Amino acid sequence: QLILLLLFSATFSWGFHRLLLRSGAPSRELQRAVRQQEFIPYLQPLVDSHQLQWCGVEVLMRWQHPVDGMVLPDLFIPFAESTGHIVAMTRSLMQQTAAQLGTLSLPAGFQISINVSAAYVADGSLPADCAAFLAAFPPDSIRLTLELTERELIATGPQTDALLGQLHDLGVRIAIDDFGTGHSSLSYLQKMDVDELKIDRSFVAGIGSDSLSADILDSILQLAAKLGLTVVAEGVEFVQQEDYLRQHGAHLLQGYRYARPMPIGEFILRPEWHNRSSE
Ligand code: C2E
Ligand code: CA
Ligand code: CA
Ligand code: CA
Repeated sequence: QLILLLLFSATFSWGFHRLLLRSGAPSRELQRAVRQQEFIPYLQPLVDSHQLQWCGVEVLMRWQHPVDGMVLPDLFIPFAESTGHIVAMTRSLMQQTAAQLGTLSLPAGFQISINVSAAYVADGSLPADCAAFLAAFPPDSIRLTLELTERELIATGPQTDALLGQLHDLGVRIAIDDFGTGHSSLSYLQKMDVDELKIDRSFVAGIGSDSLSADILDSILQLAAKLGLTVVAEGVEFVQQEDYLRQHGAHLLQGYRYARPMPIGEFILRPEWHNRSSE
């Protein structure tokens, strides 16, 4: 365990060092990168489990770094969250996404899911930023969904209730990301007005091999059905996983089986979300 911990912190600080400490002032480096619009959206399709058609996207942040090239979020998001820079970074991501998708004719009810950190929830600007995002699209044409991860505790209580109420009034949906990995899965559901659960890919990876995680997966699917929540399964790679999830009531599927995250320019050109058979 100690060795794992050492390995982990060595990897983390190496990546962190390379990217941020090299500049001497990591906070200013992030500010600079926001100004230069180096944090850009990649899109990964959400597929409906009935027809297996593309019906939405998750927006995933990438750092298009002038020296290091395309950097994955795990290397910089923890620092950005702990310093509060994540708010400006996410706002920039939402603005770029709205500007590039807002003018397209998207399928009716197209879902756009955005990852939102606890710092952004606490910041107070989230409802106004969501309203601005929605204003870039024709009225009632998209389903904007905010993914709050269970890894980061969001304070429950009257303030959070009021905020979620404001977001719901705008038509914004709330998802719990990485569901089942934290300590608070069930109390979250009890205390917060949630619309969607995203099953962590560790449970999807266990389908067909690991009976314990299959049991947990089944319980999550049953619970979500009872509570009337939308279920999204992430990390779908194999047809066996797809079959299982479709048969057991997952509504949306996401994973390399359908597509890896891609730049918006590439996404727009993909035939999959144009060629939708009429129901
Ligand atoms: P996440 O929200 O759980 O996002 C899903 C991650 O799983 C993405 O990694 C995606 O590329 C990856 N993935 C998708 N399908 C598959 C699959 O079939 N197999 C495997 N092995 N992986 C798959 P990515 O893009 O590297 O993002 C990592 C994490 O960084 C995200 O996990 C999320 O927690 C965080 N993140 C990404 N963008 C943002 C953002 O804009 N804001 C915040 N706060 N966090 C973000
Ligand atoms: Ca997510
Ligand atoms: Ca997730
Ligand atoms: Ca995950």
